[in-house]
Amino acid sequence: MGQESYNPYVTAQTQFDNVADKIGLDQATRDLLRQPSREFHFTIPVKMDDGTTKVFNAYRIQHNDARGPAKGGIRFHPQETVDTIRALSMWMTWKCAVVDIPLGGGKGGIICDPRNLSMGEQERLCRGYVRQIAKNIGPVLDVPAPDVMTTGQHMLWMMDEYQAIHGGHYPGVITGKPVGMGGSLGRTEATGYGVIYTLREALKTLNIDIAQTTASFQGFGNVAEHAIRLYSKMGGKVIAISCWDNNDKKSYTFRKLDGLDIEQMASIKDSFGTIDKQKAQEFGCELLDGDEWIAQDVDIILPCALENQITPESFAKISDQVKVICEGANGPTTPDCDELIKAKNIYLVPDFLCNAGGVTCSYFEQVQCNMNYFWSKEEVLEKLELKMTSAFQAVHKLAQDKGLYMRDAAYVIAINRVAEAAKLRGWV
Ligand code: GLU
Repeated sequence: MGQESYNPYVTAQTQFDNVADKIGLDQATRDLLRQPSREFHFTIPVKMDDGTTKVFNAYRIQHNDARGPAKGGIRFHPQETVDTIRALSMWMTWKCAVVDIPLGGGKGGIICDPRNLSMGEQERLCRGYVRQIAKNIGPVLDVPAPDVMTTGQHMLWMMDEYQAIHGGHYPGVITGKPVGMGGSLGRTEATGYGVIYTLREALKTLNIDIAQTTASFQGFGNVAEHAIRLYSKMGGKVIAISCWDNNDKKSYTFRKLDGLDIEQMASIKDSFGTIDKQKAQEFGCELLDGDEWIAQDVDIILPCALENQITPESFAKISDQVKVICEGANGPTTPDCDELIKAKNIYLVPDFLCNAGGVTCSYFEQVQCNMNYFWSKEEVLEKLELKMTSAFQAVHKLAQDKGLYMRDAAYVIAINRVAEAAKLRGWV
């Protein structure tokens, strides 16, 4: 997805190779970690509402499980590619390692557009996915979760199918379930909140008061919405939000120089994060071109949509005022931008640290399911904040101590942890 000329798997491998060189990783460990351990490619025939049968292509890729069961979402997207899922599965391994939770990395996807599928068709698609992969996922093997365009309802259908096949209650097979059905309070907010906890810490190190800052967001799905909620609560001013319009097949940037109201904006978006243009204009928003979000005179930019959004071409439009980039999405920045970010002295909170709040809360969900005892939302969010803050501090400290770029520092911590686990197991 994203820009065709950038392959996220090449990005993920380039990032890995650079850091592997820096830390002098041995060849066997490199060979093990620069590609996924297991890949499942399969088809899912689905009876459509009109009586026809449509065959969907789907994947589940397990990058590494040295530190625990593979973990990561399943996304629905018409432009999904196997290389994107490979990259995302690698990033999940680093994500779980950098926040130090006992899980590995995996990712799944179905090439489909849920915006054009009825609920019945989506349910049959979810159940068909699990029928194909039921022997290779599970609470102690590989634990899926929501991702782009998948929700708690999808997770619940998948859990139900898994339980029907295996004959028993296995709530730990999947996370991101609805609250009351094995889900954790705070899971919906977790990724977005985690983004803002790391942003707050980054601003502290720069001696900037978050309440005096302005920001521009790309995306208005689950991650961006909750990030904007917490950022606004902390006193930050959101100047622009860019989102995809599936009717016009293009994106727009919604701007209000005196600050967008999150309640207002959330009230006029659909479940896929598309903002109603007309109502937004009635609320006084300016309607700009989709890529304008990156060109705003703000202190912080937060790409919270898809891969390959910050390229050298779009980076050239970034204002001199920007001090921090927080990567809420997975892989939003192409590797050829890292030198440009350094040269501009912009503080980067890299993706697999910045957006690790979701999987951290998924881990809490598993723990609660295992105990069959559920925590209050305050307790979940308190634990989340602690995990995110300490992971951020560790990466920031290493970056300072060794003069490393934040992305590289996060990679050094994550790769060392996974390499150590693989060594201790005697794999390499
Ligand atoms: N899909 C989310 C991510 O990319 C969450 C994964 C999970 O909770 O396992 O981090």
